[in-house]
Amino acid sequence: MKKKDFKQAKYKVTHLFKLVLGLLYPLRCPVCDGIVLPFGEKICTECLPKLKLITPPYCMKCGKKVKEGDYYCPDCQRYEHLYVRGRALYDYGSVATCLYRFKYGGRREYGDFLGEEMARYLGPFIRETGAEALIPVPLHRKREKKRGYNQAKVLADALGRYAGLPVYGKYLQRVGRGGPLKYLSPEERQNNLKKAFIIKENDVKLKVVIIVDDIYTTGSTVDAVAHVLLEAGVEKVFFLAVSCGAGV
Ligand SMILES: [Zn+2]
Ligand SMILES: [Zn+2]
Repeated sequence: MKKKDFKQAKYKVTHLFKLVLGLLYPLRCPVCDGIVLPFGEKICTECLPKLKLITPPYCMKCGKKVKEGDYYCPDCQRYEHLYVRGRALYDYGSVATCLYRFKYGGRREYGDFLGEEMARYLGPFIRETGAEALIPVPLHRKREKKRGYNQAKVLADALGRYAGLPVYGKYLQRVGRGGPLKYLSPEERQNNLKKAFIIKENDVKLKVVIIVDDIYTTGSTVDAVAHVLLEAGVEKVFFLAVSCGAGV
């Protein structure tokens, strides 16, 4: 068999395999959580417009939506962040339920759609950063075991695939207790997070990286991760998230 014919045959078999797999395990829609219609897509045609992209004007530091004429959001006007810049894809309200199921409801399969959309819309930003690698925010080992996966890693893997960037999923480790941060004050969060991350792969040398997480809220997690990365010799740290959380 010629190489081209073999490639075509391989493509057909893969295609058929995916089709059968789709029939056996139909994909759930990230918005309505029903079986995706039309069949074979990653999101229902009528659900897609319900996800609202963050459009300008947004904060030039963290990517959060800002008032017309504002350069930074109130949070970034008040605090210095350790990362250079970050962007998020969707308005929080439009994707909150989706992210909740992605994180706690076992809907790991949403990751592929979300990663692809991030690569599509935030591709120019990703290229501008000159990043060599994506680093997902690690989850504590026990939590990951309980949840079955780390949603930030699932997201980074999909994004890396579509954006053509390597993912360093074992570069960092979360050692802190890592309890739910939303009930803590900003100071408590900061203290809690200060020693939460360590570098595991000391032999890997990276200069420009992008931290990947599902939601960006106050930036304390991203800053804590950026802190260890900068200490390890990384020169520039950016971040990407599916959404910028409300609360500021
Ligand atoms: Zn749907
Ligand atoms: Zn901001």
